Amino acid sequence: MPAVARTEDQADGLLTVITNTCPGCRHPGRVPNVKPAALKAWLEGAHIQDVMPELPVADRELLISGMHSDCFDSLFPPDEDA
Ligand SMILES: [Zn+2]
Repeated sequence: MPAVARTEDQADGLLTVITNTCPGCRHPGRVPNVKPAALKAWLEGAHIQDVMPELPVADRELLISGMHSDCFDSLFPPDEDA
């Protein structure tokens, strides 16, 4: 489920997406350089990797989950027995 709280217009016509408050650090995330049409398509049901292939994986995860990848790792540390 998208974790988009709001968007900010950039001077270059792209968007900075502000995500919901991260459950890990209690701060919202910021994902810059999102194409408006791509964001719209994703919110309408397209797969994020299809409409925003240029975004780093960590940014896409942040948009989807509202969690920073570092916070996710600290809340759910890798299995030490693995
Ligand atoms: Zn966080």
